[in-house]
Amino acid sequence: MSDLTELYQQVILDHNRRPRNRGRLPVANRVAHGDNPTCGDQCSVFLRMDGDRIAEINFDGQGCAISQASASLMTTQLKGKTAAEAQQLYDQFHRIVTTGEAPEEISDLAAFAGVHAFPARIKCATLGWHTALEAIRSPAVAPGTAGVGTV
Ligand code: ZN
Repeated sequence: MSDLTELYQQVILDHNRRPRNRGRLPVANRVAHGDNPTCGDQCSVFLRMDGDRIAEINFDGQGCAISQASASLMTTQLKGKTAAEAQQLYDQFHRIVTTGEAPEEISDLAAFAGVHAFPARIKCATLGWHTALEAIRSPAVAPGTAGVGTV
């Protein structure tokens, strides 16, 4: 279990204990739902897009510590970003969790570098990000209706 202990670094534990931006977002105008059946993780992402920019972002869901902490951290990283910037951040994050190599300047995302040693957990770590990118691309919905019927 020592390898797993290393995997659950402090940033991950902190986000798991105190998730940021969690819960439905009443003003959301985009929503997407994702799940990772191999682990049982579920995630919904609620966005308020202001033009091309993510003005507000929340997530809701349940699952393993990796999936929930990653979704929480993802919301803190994507708020205020454009759709293109969000894709770039995801590309960086995906590289970190698949190779274990992390540029120093993105230290919080680097907490997930240990995931690369556990290929089955990569989907846990990327679930929130995939769901957020899907929400960005999804058609606009009227605020107050987002999230009906999801987690
Ligand atoms: Zn999981």
